[in-house]
Amino acid sequence: MDLHGKRVVVVGLQASGRAAAKLAVSRGAQVVGADLRADIEPLDGVALELGPHRRSTFQGADLIVVSPGVPISQPDLVAAEECGVPILGELAFAAQFLDLPTAAISGTNGKSTVTWFTGQLLRGAGGRPFVGGNLGNPLSNAVLAMDRGEDAPDSLVVEVSSYQMERPGRFHPQVGVILNLTPDHLARHGDMDTYGAMKVRLFAQMGPRDFSVLPADDDRLRTLAEVAGDHGRRLWLDKIPGVTRLGQYARVVFDAHEIRFDLTVVRVPGVHNLDNAATAALIAVAMGAPGQAIQEAMGSLEALPHRMQVVAEQDGVLWVNDSKATNVEAAAVGIGGIERPSVVLLGGQAKGPGFAALAPLLQRHRAVVTFGDSGPDIAAELTGAGVEAHRAGCLEDAVEQARGLARPGDAVLLSPGCASFDAFDDFEHRGRVFSSLAAGEDA
Ligand code: ADP
Repeated sequence: MDLHGKRVVVVGLQASGRAAAKLAVSRGAQVVGADLRADIEPLDGVALELGPHRRSTFQGADLIVVSPGVPISQPDLVAAEECGVPILGELAFAAQFLDLPTAAISGTNGKSTVTWFTGQLLRGAGGRPFVGGNLGNPLSNAVLAMDRGEDAPDSLVVEVSSYQMERPGRFHPQVGVILNLTPDHLARHGDMDTYGAMKVRLFAQMGPRDFSVLPADDDRLRTLAEVAGDHGRRLWLDKIPGVTRLGQYARVVFDAHEIRFDLTVVRVPGVHNLDNAATAALIAVAMGAPGQAIQEAMGSLEALPHRMQVVAEQDGVLWVNDSKATNVEAAAVGIGGIERPSVVLLGGQAKGPGFAALAPLLQRHRAVVTFGDSGPDIAAELTGAGVEAHRAGCLEDAVEQARGLARPGDAVLLSPGCASFDAFDDFEHRGRVFSSLAAGEDA
């Protein structure tokens, strides 16, 4: 796409929008950056329009690029589109400047981890993947880095959210994966079918040499993919052709590949992370990496910060930071997946009741400590479900209690099942405080 002299409006000026605006400027466009917020840092070469949008600006654009945070139902966007102005999501905008083998990973849970693992496996196998998208580093930055002549990647591994697929343009990954689909983001997408339909758009541009990967047990996704016109070759999670996992071993089977992976070497805690590693192996094979190199890289897989991340080991006790588990479902995955008997820290700002559902998983662990604003309610709910919880005030208190409760061979797991905003800026902040406390530092 030649942007010289074109009027490009970038809507939403957080990380993705800023990267897209810079890219549009560097490609010779006249760029307007629009954001409802007034406190936006200036950007070189970008005319800012802050506060309420000006519809005339949108309608006069040659192209609008939307950040994932901006819903496509926004009335000024609708009006512009009705006037024939093309709209692209940031990912689709950036992708059109890149011609590299691409793995795109979507789903409700586990996207970041699988993206991160896949990047590590490809790197371990000698590749130079760009790893990003929804995961921290917007795809526009890959184009900007290549334009600057910095170490050019040889592949792209991108995490894709449903928001980015509202306007997917001709985004065309060679390997597209949807890990799972559970109710989430319904305030924006309306219902599960619409939410799922965004996800299967990953496959819309595929041809017979590409791979569309779906969970074997999800009929809704399979049907939606068929309806959307998936021309890729289907691989499955948990079925052949695709990847299956039996305990500590995974098997990747498709075409001429039949590769067995030993997952005993994976050091990231949590059974779900064995699935994530197996999925990443399938993607890496589909991207052309050799099985043996993938196996070797498995042993050095590292967790993403705040997702089942081992942050300390003291006196035989492993301290695990899963602060990203901000709802009950995510906490269940961490609590159910960790093998060691654990002291589980639950609390923060609950999104509602539902903690009783954790009771069967908690029974097998050492103890539960609740903390934060919702701590007392969670403790009461658990007591009702037959699990006694130790009550703490703040996280620091909870860590102190956990230190007293854990025995050698145990873990202390922060998988809080709650938002962090009662006491922290965000889940990362909460995770950092936990990590310092775990290491015995003053937080
Ligand atoms: P996302 O980027 O999709 O939010 P993450 O990799 O950050 O996913 O993981 C978020 C949470 O989802 C984790 O803390 C974990 O509890 C849960 N999770 C991770 N992997 C999976 C999986 N394969 N299936 C279901 N839940 C998972």
